[in-house]
Amino acid sequence: MPHTSSYDAPGNARGGYVGRFAPSPSGPLHRGSLVAALASLLDARAHGGLWRLRIEDTDTPRMMPGGATRILRTLERFGFQWDGEVVLQSRRGAAYEHAWAQLAAQGRVYRCTCTRREIADSGAPGVDGAPVYPGTCRTHPPDGQRPAAWRLRVDDSVIEFDDRQAGRQVQALAEEVGDFIVKRADGIWAYQLAAVVDDAEAGITDVVRGADLLASTARQIFLQTLLDLPTPRYLHVPLVTLASGEKLSKQTGAAALDDEDVLESLEAAAAHLGLSVEPVDAIEEFWAKAIPAWRGRYMNERENPSVSELERR
Ligand code: GLU
Ligand code: ZN
Repeated sequence: MPHTSSYDAPGNARGGYVGRFAPSPSGPLHRGSLVAALASLLDARAHGGLWRLRIEDTDTPRMMPGGATRILRTLERFGFQWDGEVVLQSRRGAAYEHAWAQLAAQGRVYRCTCTRREIADSGAPGVDGAPVYPGTCRTHPPDGQRPAAWRLRVDDSVIEFDDRQAGRQVQALAEEVGDFIVKRADGIWAYQLAAVVDDAEAGITDVVRGADLLASTARQIFLQTLLDLPTPRYLHVPLVTLASGEKLSKQTGAAALDDEDVLESLEAAAAHLGLSVEPVDAIEEFWAKAIPAWRGRYMNERENPSVSELERR
């Protein structure tokens, strides 16, 4: 089942651009998350589109108490304005259950009781350095009532798509990922499933996010195909890394954004994205300059909506 999505593919049935930012409240926003937030908002505004906000709080044990509220406040302080209601994944269980049932009806999911250790011992390294799931429980279904994760059976699909930044991507799921988890043994919905269901529900036409998720995209496109959902366009922006090459994150000691200077942080994030935005005195001025800078750097001519087209919207 080869699947191709193209950079030029029309967005959704409604036609208009809809983007999103989807932070996980496992910690406060930092310089790295600001880059993803900035890129996704600039792309939405540069297309005259909508920008939605979704809090990815499915992984309850890892959530920081009050984390979602803190993220919203930080975004507000930085001048980010989102469209519509904030979606909380913790309230979307019924939608994920429904998607899971569709996959189950296709005979696509099976129970798995393998430990991390067992998989690491037998799986060859795949994308992101994670072991490829060797299919143990696919061929030998676990017995008994032990809590089990649900895995999605992949096939020999080779997923291809054009990332607007990284270019043509080709991933053979069976060789590079293996059957992947859609629901964890502790009952938590996996990121891949939740993100796909929510992107579709929100009518997202364009996903703009950090390059650490480039390798997840093929799994998401595969799920979209099985669930008969549209595939958005994708743009993965360069990650903020430390001198050691590690991704900047809470784990690697990133400072919370809300303790830092707003304009300076926005300017640094824009510079990281390769945008030349001259120094400004006010947040509104920053946004006014950053949108055309984004257009010049990330949108080709055909994509650049003409002024008359923007006015019609
Ligand atoms: N919640 C994910 C993160 O914070 C982003 C998910 C996405 O943009 O698809 O890394
Ligand atoms: Zn297993």
